[in-house]
Amino acid sequence: MVVVRTTPPRPVDVTAVFPELAPSARPAVRLHPRPGAPSAADSSVGGPLLWPADEPWPHCEAAHLHLDSGFRRPPAEVRLDRRIMARRHADHGGPAMTPEEQTLRERCATMMEERFGADLPEPADCPVPLLPVAQLYLRDVPLLRPPAGADVLQVLWCPYDHEPDCKPSTALFWRSAAEVADILATPPEPYEVNDDGYVPEPCTLAPEAITEYPNSLDLSPRERSMVEDRSRWRAAGADPDSSHADSPRGFYDIHLAEAPGWKVGGWPPWGRTDPCPRYCAVCDARMVPLLTVASFEWDGGEGHSWAPHEDREAAVAAAAVGYCCGQRPSQPTKVAVGSTDNLQIYVCPTSPDHPHTDLIQ
Ligand SMILES: [Zn+2]
Ligand SMILES: [Zn+2]
Repeated sequence: MVVVRTTPPRPVDVTAVFPELAPSARPAVRLHPRPGAPSAADSSVGGPLLWPADEPWPHCEAAHLHLDSGFRRPPAEVRLDRRIMARRHADHGGPAMTPEEQTLRERCATMMEERFGADLPEPADCPVPLLPVAQLYLRDVPLLRPPAGADVLQVLWCPYDHEPDCKPSTALFWRSAAEVADILATPPEPYEVNDDGYVPEPCTLAPEAITEYPNSLDLSPRERSMVEDRSRWRAAGADPDSSHADSPRGFYDIHLAEAPGWKVGGWPPWGRTDPCPRYCAVCDARMVPLLTVASFEWDGGEGHSWAPHEDREAAVAAAAVGYCCGQRPSQPTKVAVGSTDNLQIYVCPTSPDHPHTDLIQ
């Protein structure tokens, strides 16, 4: 079954009100990750990856931050807790733990005892196996611009905090799916993660092509005052006042500019800081957004105009009465970066061989 997710039409046609913004329209692909059981042959969030059995799994050898703070634990334990929460959500009167879950819990405890009882360096001081974040096949996301011969993008990260911005460090791999004969069956896992939000839940995707406009922080001063001018909206028969947004600019940013959630391409989300352009370390070209790794697919308030039709009921219910057992409909991947922010991955438009960069926003 092909799962479809559909972004509701925007409440106002941007180019009808502001024809001046037409040249700023950018294509984006919302990925709409939802928990599932993807295979290595699928586009996914959280793996598994189409990784050749004879190719070494990537590891991080960087220095890791804040190792004496935080609550680090094995990814297996993070997954176990999620599994228990999901079961208890489906059956609120169910047991705190089933015998099978108890066994898994004990296995995690034994693993920790063995690891810390042994005379070994701190896990964070060893090369750390990376965790799968996303796998995108060109056939599902035609917006990707792979190097010649490649048709699948694999994104992984190291689940410890790194400078700058205290974030996981990302690694990108392009490959040709046809060249992978034997797949690595059990990739190594990091012993622990810095934060539960650094363990992406395996999700299938429902890519949807949309058009985005720049966040108002990315507009020129002239364009920004145009968006703030209520008479322009009224002249086009649009009424941003009917929204709870406190200004036309707020309405524009919340409902019309860039989409929240996991996506490829489009315009970057801003707000925590002013826009910070990224320049290629090799050729100095202005880099372009490749992938946005989002903590939320839509926000709990007005931004849920971006909740797809198919999730609307759940989004409205969660906004009205809350959610329980961690089953937040707007956080299907269980990823949380920079608490509630986005991790933006940028690439050089000149060459896919130039190194990527990322930032938390
Ligand atoms: Zn690392
Ligand atoms: Zn470059």
